Amino acid sequence: MICETVKRDSKNPHLPQTFGWLVNRHMHYVTLNALLLVSLVVGCDFPRRPEAVTISDPVEIRPDKPSDVMSPADAISAIMTICRKDLNLPTPDSVRLSLYRNSASFASYGQGWSNLPIDVDNITAFTRRGEIHLDLGKTRGKRWGNLIDILAHEYGHAIHYSLGNRPTTRWFDEGFAGWVAARVLHSLGGKITMLH
Ligand SMILES: [Zn+2]
Repeated sequence: MICETVKRDSKNPHLPQTFGWLVNRHMHYVTLNALLLVSLVVGCDFPRRPEAVTISDPVEIRPDKPSDVMSPADAISAIMTICRKDLNLPTPDSVRLSLYRNSASFASYGQGWSNLPIDVDNITAFTRRGEIHLDLGKTRGKRWGNLIDILAHEYGHAIHYSLGNRPTTRWFDEGFAGWVAARVLHSLGGKITMLH
């Protein structure tokens, strides 16, 4: 005679413990599949943590040619110079960049799983609480000088946040960021034709 003791799940005493274990295993399986599915959808790249770059009180620079913009710090420094000196805006003393090597990283670590599904294909950058997040998977091959318009737009959002992040309408937020980007490009003048 075979005697079998069936243990009960502590959370649900009506279910055998083995059944609860199967449910947990199934949930892990579903979560893992979701992770893999997102990775496949956004380009077969696995999520990785972003590289953080903080630019604090940079020196004034005004790029004359694309090779003058060698790094994200150079690009932000040029944008901050124009915002301070030409536009007289009250800019934050430092700005933090989070650089994601691919869209899977951008979606999972930048946007967060709680915000999925998101329009990963059509979002290159965003700013949250004054921090600029950039998906390098969509800017691959471009020099930092080619990204000044995107970074200037996001820096406009960072300026807005530094002023107290007062509640406004979306059209105003985007309009202000777009205005900052346009003025930065305008201040670069003829140089911008070389930057693009
Ligand atoms: Zn925007």
